[in-house]
Amino acid sequence: MKVTEHIKQANGKTLFSFEIVPPQKGQNIQELYNNIDPLMEFKPPFIDVTTSREEHIYIEKSGLLDRKITRMRPGTVGICASLKYKYNVDAIPHVLCGGFTMEETEYLLVDCHYLGLDNVMALRGDAMKHETYFTATKNGHQYASELVGQIKDLNRGKYLHEIIETPYNSDFCVGVAGYPEKHIESPSLDSDLRRLKEKVDAGADYVVTQMFFDNKKYFDFVEKARAIGITVPIIPGIKPIAIHRHLQVLPQVFKLDLPEILVNEVEKCETNKQVKEVGVRWAIEQCKELIANNVPVVHFYSMGKSDNIKEIASAIF
Ligand code: FAD
Repeated sequence: MKVTEHIKQANGKTLFSFEIVPPQKGQNIQELYNNIDPLMEFKPPFIDVTTSREEHIYIEKSGLLDRKITRMRPGTVGICASLKYKYNVDAIPHVLCGGFTMEETEYLLVDCHYLGLDNVMALRGDAMKHETYFTATKNGHQYASELVGQIKDLNRGKYLHEIIETPYNSDFCVGVAGYPEKHIESPSLDSDLRRLKEKVDAGADYVVTQMFFDNKKYFDFVEKARAIGITVPIIPGIKPIAIHRHLQVLPQVFKLDLPEILVNEVEKCETNKQVKEVGVRWAIEQCKELIANNVPVVHFYSMGKSDNIKEIASAIF
């Protein structure tokens, strides 16, 4: 079922969902299931599965370094299919512009359609590790709005090189990313919001936000989005702080601000176990306020670990 239908069916009740990251190549998939199992009692209607960018690796060959390109965490669509059939849940593959030609994207979408996946999340993807800026793959998309356009075209039977009139078209519900503290490359929040509007105008059905730690940022973002005519659901993304290093890494990677009170609390902690407890308490308060303000879903970035998310979900649902 589509995310938008789940939200409609919930009739104002806030839903619980989360995002998982595929295991590294060679890891046992069972570990992923072991982390998902404890969260299923909270009845997530959907689970997102990320896609990782390809990266360069260097292999020594006859004394020389041979550069190869590889994806360290493949398997997004396969994992989605396995979650759908193992847990009877809607699984949402993240589809990227970066690293994919339009043809490859079309084939991937056809796979998703045949597997009965009703939703996809359309994202540009970040720059590759060695790049300073994102560069589009040859014959790929530059912006997520173009990818949304391709997905919506496919829903109408418009393939890249042919139009096929048939009742068997895909009907993907499309999610896109939104940034309450603006995207790192964007000159201003207003400009970024106009870009978000372009994604919605291209056909995006809902938005999932980047993580934030101050609810006011989310509420202001939603207000501004509504003011420029973005009417689709805007799902808040929540990440519980879990280790000391998050104080540096999260602002650096995602260009976001951490509230002073949270920073002080974390700095007082002597162990990461204590940091985790602070993170859980903070996320519970965040979620309680979000739910009181009728957000459609609270969506957690699990990063493959579920114990803290289970604690939060137990306190709020
Ligand atoms: P876009 O919407 O294309 O925007 C990128 C930048 O370009 C923004 O600054 C925007 O303002 C600007 N822009 C947009 N259109 C135009 C235009 N026409 N002209 C000029 N500027 C423009 N990354 C992964 O690699 N894998 C994942 O699975 C993944 N999942 C994510 C899930 C969520 C919920 C979020 C919030 C992010 C996720 N990301 C993921 C990260 C995402 O790929 C990066 O943040 C990426 O840098 C931007 O992606 P986007 O889809 O928002 O890009």
